[in-house]
Amino acid sequence: MQDTSFCLFTPPPKGKKIVWEITSQCNMLCKHCCANASSRVPRNGFIFSDKKLINQNIQKMVALGIKEFYISGGEPFLAKGILSFLKSLKEKGVKVSVATNACCLNKTIIRNLSKIKIDFLHVSVDGHLPEIHNVLRGGNFFDKVVKNIRMLRRYKIPVRVGCMIWRNNENLLEEMVKLCINLRVRNLRFSWLIKVGRFKDNPQLYPKRKWLSVMDEIKRLKKKYRNKLGITTHRVPWLNSNSFQFCPGGDRLFFLNPKGQLSSCSWIAKNDPNFITGKSLKEVGFENLIKEKEILKFKKMLEERKNKGFKGCPFFAQHLNYSYYSDDKLIK
Ligand code: SF4
Repeated sequence: MQDTSFCLFTPPPKGKKIVWEITSQCNMLCKHCCANASSRVPRNGFIFSDKKLINQNIQKMVALGIKEFYISGGEPFLAKGILSFLKSLKEKGVKVSVATNACCLNKTIIRNLSKIKIDFLHVSVDGHLPEIHNVLRGGNFFDKVVKNIRMLRRYKIPVRVGCMIWRNNENLLEEMVKLCINLRVRNLRFSWLIKVGRFKDNPQLYPKRKWLSVMDEIKRLKKKYRNKLGITTHRVPWLNSNSFQFCPGGDRLFFLNPKGQLSSCSWIAKNDPNFITGKSLKEVGFENLIKEKEILKFKKMLEERKNKGFKGCPFFAQHLNYSYYSDDKLIK
């Protein structure tokens, strides 16, 4: 059995997934943003405004087995034409979800999303109180986010709340669970901070608690609230160590940045420019981009890791030990 539970992503059991950062623009300036997004309007090389290019490549992606599109940014709902883009994806019969801070949503957008039958929205809420969430995200957005989640649920749009575990909420995880139950969301996904993007400049945000103790608490909460809320975390320590550990990057998982450059994985792209294609969708179609040297080089590295017996996620191996040819310490 192929085990991808150590992976930060979850490609579908059959078929491939693409994580697509369509814009680098955002209305927030979160202290931990992994994409370094800002209010600057993207200009040079930004591909999302080229509708013809986008439509041609969506068709190619679907023909090549992409069954799941996870759209992120920046804030995707700032991108002009986002609703028609989502609609055209859903018309291809694929799964489509969007990561959003939920601040740009309004009744008209939410009504349209319900017509499109978007699979789910991943909404970031990083604390159960305004004074926690607003500190990490800046501004005064908590009440608006909560109001918009309630509206999404009124329109029966599935919501997954994404909650970053950080210094000010690390001992308040159960409160977060209770908020999500009150908001009637489908899932709560806890994530651990990773030192990339703007978080590198804000190390004081890092939790004091040990990762394993937090994971044990999440396991307890998962059991306690199993009839009320789905609770997940993006990387689990309760692995089946006998199963074959499989990094899906470059095969079942891809990442596209706002300029249309491809990488095998979103986190690899943030950590290592050697594995981002020099070419973009503007120069070659998706069917050729997946064969570019940077993608092949990544797959070769995976093969070599496997032959040398190294386990787990190559991003974490490199991030924590400064070498892809080492073990991801999570994997015993
Ligand atoms: S490097 Fe591989 S295992 Fe690690 S997060 Fe990326 S796709 Fe998942």
